[in-house]
Amino acid sequence: MKVIETCFEMAALCRAAERPLGLVPTMGALHDGHLSLTRRARADNATMAASLFVNPTQFGPHEDFGSYPRRLVRDLELLAAQGADLVLAPPPEEIYPAGFDTWIEPGAAAEGMEGAARPGHFRGVATVVAKLFGIVRPDRAYFGQKDGQQVAVIRKMTADLNLGVEVVTMPTVREADGLALSSRNAYLTPEERMAAPVVYRALRAAESQWQAGERDAERLRAAALAVLQGEPLVESVDYVSVVDGDTMAAVDTVTGGRRVMVAAAARVGAVRLIDNVVLG
Ligand code: AMP
Repeated sequence: MKVIETCFEMAALCRAAERPLGLVPTMGALHDGHLSLTRRARADNATMAASLFVNPTQFGPHEDFGSYPRRLVRDLELLAAQGADLVLAPPPEEIYPAGFDTWIEPGAAAEGMEGAARPGHFRGVATVVAKLFGIVRPDRAYFGQKDGQQVAVIRKMTADLNLGVEVVTMPTVREADGLALSSRNAYLTPEERMAAPVVYRALRAAESQWQAGERDAERLRAAALAVLQGEPLVESVDYVSVVDGDTMAAVDTVTGGRRVMVAAAARVGAVRLIDNVVLG
């Protein structure tokens, strides 16, 4: 496994690498959710590349960029054990040198939910992913359904800009109690950790209403919201949304034939958790 700090060297090694090449972009602090992506990328491709980069431009000014967990040595051990061939772990100035001034502005898929709660977030995500695609030129790139809106934004960007990358989405990996794995779970106090599965429980409540025949999005939202509001450690709910699984447009009635996602963001204590389920 080669660990590379510069875009130039990464691009050269990727150009020379055996194809197909699969890329797993991450912000590090790897957990089993990330490893489900690397495992799949390893199985699907002759070359497996990953990136470890805490992308400053996708964090808001009052968000956790400074305190985001950084575990480079451990991450590299995990990636080596997964059989990664190439790992890009650049310093911020390598990705954003002085004078960097070109951005990807995603459209409607980025407007609601995370886009509304975190202005500029998807502009940062789309820009860094476009740059990684440009550096690595992967045949495939792997993303987690955990960040369902991110997947939609990246798929749309990849199609709209003819980036020629196959975007592969992998299912959300969860703890035994349903909590979606996230690097941010490490911020939870033991008490908050006990309460945190409420987000998935809320989404499951909406899902079981849907399974019981409910098709009205407002009622599905209300079912999830009631569960969240019943947990005292839930400080606030940013949103519960019922959206088209591809466009992220709000849905009024869940009709057959299209993928519908129920997504939520809530603060448990001070920790902001997001999760989603896909109906059907
Ligand atoms: P991050 O390091 O948080 O930017 O995540 C890197 C990739 O791992 C993204 O595509 C995430 O959607 C994916 N990911 C994070 N958590 C999970 C999870 N619990 N299950 C599946 N994929 C995940």
